Amino acid sequence: MKRILLKLSGEALAGGKGFGFDEETCLGVARQVKVLLEQGIQVAIVIGGGNFWRGRNSSKIIERTKSDQIGMLGTVMNCIYVSEIFRTLGMKTKVYTPFLCGSFTELFAKDSAVEALEEGKVVFFAGGTGHPYFSTDTGTTLRAIEIEADAILLAKAVDGVYDSDPKTNPQAKKFDKISIQEVVDRRLQVVDLTSTIMCMENKMPMVVFGLNEENSIVKALSDEFNGTYVTVD
Ligand code: UDP
Repeated sequence: MKRILLKLSGEALAGGKGFGFDEETCLGVARQVKVLLEQGIQVAIVIGGGNFWRGRNSSKIIERTKSDQIGMLGTVMNCIYVSEIFRTLGMKTKVYTPFLCGSFTELFAKDSAVEALEEGKVVFFAGGTGHPYFSTDTGTTLRAIEIEADAILLAKAVDGVYDSDPKTNPQAKKFDKISIQEVVDRRLQVVDLTSTIMCMENKMPMVVFGLNEENSIVKALSDEFNGTYVTVD
């Protein structure tokens, strides 16, 4: 693989704390991404916002559109923070948003992002799609398709795709490989349904693994991989 889009959940960044950032977790991600860059892989990153705010359920009384705007701004904070952590290890980075954030970020444009990736910069796509009622999953899928990534790497709390929830069902079976059609048919929650359909229509494969496992981001692109491949052909 030459170009990947890594999706990290906001909650994963919070480590055990559940809110805000766990610096050691973020440094661990940065060290692994550095290894991928050294292997010549181009890396783009999308980060969720669940460690700050979820538009759907963080407030019961304010309007959803505004609540989602807060969620999107949370993902901007996450990207600025993680980008700076990456810089402490000597990597070059760029943070893009789909809306203007003054001098904090750059407005997303495919050509600029691809150029930055080709220069070896780690590119962050903050602010999701820029629209309410979407998620960072849809932002991930959209950007992965736009920048013509070879795959989406999904670093999750669980270590792959199971036939039922392994937290509630100890008999749950993990797939080594599953087709995206089967993900749809079985309504498995790998990413949300909108994103699943987008991946299917645009033939974007996904590589799913647990972020908590040692060196799992590097392993995801090696023979040591033990998560789930979601195939599209
Ligand atoms: N969000 C949005 N549009 C997008 C991406 C994100 O409105 O394109 C908002 C939404 O409110 C979401 C929050 O940002 O709940 C954080 O994103 P994330 O996808 O992490 O939310 P989660 O899936 O964890 O609820």
